Amino acid sequence: MEKQLYNYLGAIHIHTNLSDGSGDIDSITKAAKNAELDWIIITDHNNFDIQEGIYNGVCVIKGEEISPSKSDHYIALGIKKLIEPQDDVQKIIDEVKAQDGFGFAAHPDESDNRKNKAHPIKWTDKSIIPDGIEIWNWFSDWADNYDESNIFKIAYSYIFRNKLIQGPHPKTLKWWDELNKNSEHVIPAIVGVDAHALKFSKYIIPLKIFPYKDCFKTLTNVITLESKLPKDFQSQKRAILEAIKNGNNIMINRHIKKDIPLIYTEDKTIIIKLSTKAQIRIIQNGTTIHTEFNNCLKFPIQEKTKYRIEVYLKDRPWIFSNSILIK
Ligand SMILES: [Zn+2]
Ligand SMILES: [Zn+2]
Repeated sequence: MEKQLYNYLGAIHIHTNLSDGSGDIDSITKAAKNAELDWIIITDHNNFDIQEGIYNGVCVIKGEEISPSKSDHYIALGIKKLIEPQDDVQKIIDEVKAQDGFGFAAHPDESDNRKNKAHPIKWTDKSIIPDGIEIWNWFSDWADNYDESNIFKIAYSYIFRNKLIQGPHPKTLKWWDELNKNSEHVIPAIVGVDAHALKFSKYIIPLKIFPYKDCFKTLTNVITLESKLPKDFQSQKRAILEAIKNGNNIMINRHIKKDIPLIYTEDKTIIIKLSTKAQIRIIQNGTTIHTEFNNCLKFPIQEKTKYRIEVYLKDRPWIFSNSILIK
């Protein structure tokens, strides 16, 4: 008999009207509920004023996107008070740790070859090691591929925005795999929506581009627990942050397909169950060691090391597991 498991879906990396987003907590949580999310993490730029709690049935946890002006944005979670940005990113990482928090390098490899004016914001020195990495950021991925060279390309980029989404940057995955290879513990990863729901009135008609509810149906972090989340906010927050800190989240682009996979290990075997056949890749320390087109895969583990899973549906990136450490 299969054991009972409970999935909790969440979105990380959200901006409200306290920084450069347009929504307040009520409208954002209504959008989250509409997108079937159980929890969200608000990460305003250099702002820590949002009131946490349960709103419209959604658990709202606050973090901060510590945002120096030119580069090195850092998603800080589990911190207690505002951390001011500064150019020395190691000091930012240390300050987060000093507050018993943990952090993720945000959109570390934005493209230098953009066909638009949005300036890439990267992680400038990869020898400075964050606690974790945001391996895929919806808004960065879109902006890397947004072509504003003429009005038709602009219209296409907005209307068919999800067609521009390419998946995690190969450089980011390589860096993540290297950090995992050199570390005894799991270097956790998240996917971020970087939702703003920007209000935009350049072309006479005021537009709200990429409303929260649309973003929330894309890159999703799924936490799988063996028991139900407790009812009270503080216990929910603790369980969710603990799971993210330990890399116990599966990352899914629900725009490709919203079904949640089952990925777990049992008796020296990695087990992957999907709702449909797709290309499954097993990656060991950065190298793809097995590829199979299937909806179920039982992969025997040869070595005690780290493995991770990627799944592609019709050549589009769909599911990424965190690193699975086999002891
Ligand atoms: Zn950022
Ligand atoms: Zn952001």
